[in-house]
Amino acid sequence: MNIILLGPPGAGKGTQAQRLVKDRNMVQLSTGDMLRAARTSGTEMGKRVADVMDRGELVTDEIVIGLIRERLTSGDEVEGYIFDGFPRTLAQADALGDLLAELGQTLDRVILMEVDDEALVARITARSTCANCGAVYNDITKPIPADGVCTSCGAKAEFTRRADDNEESLKTRLLAYYKQTSPLVGYYHAKDDLARVDGLQSMDEVAASIAKALS
Ligand code: AMP
Repeated sequence: MNIILLGPPGAGKGTQAQRLVKDRNMVQLSTGDMLRAARTSGTEMGKRVADVMDRGELVTDEIVIGLIRERLTSGDEVEGYIFDGFPRTLAQADALGDLLAELGQTLDRVILMEVDDEALVARITARSTCANCGAVYNDITKPIPADGVCTSCGAKAEFTRRADDNEESLKTRLLAYYKQTSPLVGYYHAKDDLARVDGLQSMDEVAASIAKALS
């Protein structure tokens, strides 16, 4: 089963993707994580996208489609993919459709995680990530453990805030979402693939709503 988690920054896509990985043995493909990894390892591409990402703008379709193509054609046998933060433009959505068709696969569901803008700002400015495994924490709903040991990977880890998780970049990211990504809601609705989930529920409730949409 291949699914897309669609929604604005801070809707909880990464958190729910991590749960689906644990519960269903699926593979999370987050273009944001891949781009951050490219930056950390200092590749040419990583250097090229750094400023664009920090400003909160989208990197080119060509780069992210290339990243996804590379992963999908790697030949690994998996239970299914969770596309997290991809596609973000209509061109990316078309490319993903073509790529899956090429591989004889289908897109089974697109989950739209709906959260209002005010909640997004509050969530994002409270967010931090385990530097070891990428598990997402939130100062209010899921604080960093007092002993500094990540509840996901068990490592005594550093917990970092993303460079683009600030109010200025967030404004640009929200604009990018509404201008470039939100047309995908209509696109997938017209294809009968879309299920809407209230992303303001608790993490467990959101997970249950997603499970229902996938059943
Ligand atoms: P994310 O972790 O999904 O919030 O992505 C962080 C940043 O990476 C975004 O603000 C963009 O600059 C870039 N990015 C991630 N995925 C994409 C994508 N599918 N298309 C274009 N840019 C992306």
